[in-house]
Amino acid sequence: MTAFSELVAATESDLATTLGGFREEGRRIYATSSFQTQSVPLLHLLSQHAGVSVVLIDTGYLFPETYDFAHDLQGRLGFDLKQVRSTRTYAEQCTSSGALLHTRDVDACCRLNKVEPMESLLRPGDVWISGIRADQTATRASKPRLETDDRGILRYHPMLKWTARDIYQYLREHGLPKHPLESAGYLSIGCLPCTRKWDGSDARSARWEGSSKTECGLHTNTP
Ligand code: SF4
Repeated sequence: MTAFSELVAATESDLATTLGGFREEGRRIYATSSFQTQSVPLLHLLSQHAGVSVVLIDTGYLFPETYDFAHDLQGRLGFDLKQVRSTRTYAEQCTSSGALLHTRDVDACCRLNKVEPMESLLRPGDVWISGIRADQTATRASKPRLETDDRGILRYHPMLKWTARDIYQYLREHGLPKHPLESAGYLSIGCLPCTRKWDGSDARSARWEGSSKTECGLHTNTP
């Protein structure tokens, strides 16, 4: 058995045991996805389990290709797709000078469009799965596999030990697709105004250019 096949087997076993336990406890189970290439292995693994809703956080600023990719994956893998978005209108998201929030305050914009819609969806006792990996950012490297956040929501991170190389090997072995913008030079893809093409440096540096921001806030609101 190779190190990669051991990693896949361990992740499959962990998902089966952990999700089975959550279902027995009657918990609602959600998985957020950014629907990038790197999201695909977890979506493929989760699609083999009942009772998991995959959440697309629709900021209104996603690339059209991302919406298409999400729906293509749903059709291909058959998971339950739930879309959430902020109830604030664009007009309500402008600064006093009339500028759209993402041009002045990216933290506030991410909070309104990403964090708040998830906070509205989730209740204490729910499970929130994400595909974050330790090799992505320092914040993610310090995450435990399971934690409970300050609202009593269980956060489950089954992909922490995976690397970018593992992601691509899994895609190859299962004949799974990549985000259509990857071939156009985008490696880490979020909202259109806050994403630029990859320049050969750290993949996450393609997000929030000119800012020290590396996280949208979804994975930092924990003890
Ligand atoms: S990534 Fe940019 S556009 Fe998207 S919610 Fe955050 S600040 Fe707003």
